[in-house]
Amino acid sequence: MGSLQKFMRPELGKFAGYAACKSPEVLTEEVRRLGVVKLDANENVYGPSPAVTRALGQLNDVHIYPDSCQTELRKALAQYAGVPSENIVAGSGSDQLIDLLVRMFVSPDDEVITFTPTFAMYKFFTDLAGGKFIAVPRDNDYQVVLDRLPEVVSDRTKLIFIAMPNNPTGTQVPLETVYTLLQTGLPVVVDEAYYEFTGQTLADKLDQYPNLIILRTFSKWAGLAGLRIGYGLFPDEVARKLDAIKDPYCVNAAAVTAARASLNDLDYLMDKVKLIIQERERLFQALQGVYYLKPFPSAANFILCRVEGKNGAEIQSRLEQRGILVRYFNSPNMENSLRFSIGKPHDTDRLLTELLKIGEA
Ligand SMILES: *Cc1c(COP(=O)(O)O)cnc(C)c1O
Repeated sequence: MGSLQKFMRPELGKFAGYAACKSPEVLTEEVRRLGVVKLDANENVYGPSPAVTRALGQLNDVHIYPDSCQTELRKALAQYAGVPSENIVAGSGSDQLIDLLVRMFVSPDDEVITFTPTFAMYKFFTDLAGGKFIAVPRDNDYQVVLDRLPEVVSDRTKLIFIAMPNNPTGTQVPLETVYTLLQTGLPVVVDEAYYEFTGQTLADKLDQYPNLIILRTFSKWAGLAGLRIGYGLFPDEVARKLDAIKDPYCVNAAAVTAARASLNDLDYLMDKVKLIIQERERLFQALQGVYYLKPFPSAANFILCRVEGKNGAEIQSRLEQRGILVRYFNSPNMENSLRFSIGKPHDTDRLLTELLKIGEA
């Protein structure tokens, strides 16, 4: 039997794929009986607005292909973001827009710069496109350091990605840092996935910087992660090219309906965002009192902690046995670390109880 391996693109040889979060379905019956709380993927524990559930219940016409331009959604987004609808493109999650941007700018062996640790999809799609991923390490507090920027920018650099605030560290990025990046003239993608938790945006700077690209998502603040809907704010020619290269029906009718209903129920959703921020501050304070954890200040809906003197992977699996799913990281400049997404007050209490028990062991 011949193998098809030899027909595959050789640059995919090293491509290992993304380790997605565990679905609660794979947990044992015993753990599920305890009640599973997912604090591992920065989802919104309050779920979507009830207006979304109602609108989805009334969704007709699913036998018809969706509007390939998301005309109505883009009008609503134009109002929400303060940017003309011609400069807005929606995608099946902002992940898809990351993919399309890389495909638009990056040929094999072209370079993509980002500041690590950061969101894994920048590397994922760069690798998939055969590009070269240039990781500029952040400092010990996970701040972006630009001293080495002149050395790392080359004539093969095609894109810079920066998450503001950053995932998985929660670090906010000073606007001056982004302005310095924009001064390179290279396409700079500012990923505002957690914009609603901070209020800090560059949406009003699109006119000023023709190389500025902004990405947003409904996954985190609006509780629509399962429907896959994101969007971006783009310079004219990037928006036109995205329209040209994207799969026409990539954003499905349910996602559009849910996003529109969310934008019509901002008060409800922003109240929940406020609760999450309050809970983040309470968890942060409490984590500072857990002797083996060093929490990093976060501007998003999660907190990253370095684990000191214990094994983070073991803590993750002990929490999992108690029905609490969290994310473990162990990479060169993010060693032995745990990320806790913010839950409801009861979830925080459960998490803290378990962390304190682990501390006594
Ligand atoms: C979650 C996240 C995204 C992806 O959002 P989707 O719209 O669900 O694809 C993008 N960027 C960052 C930094 C994220 O944390």
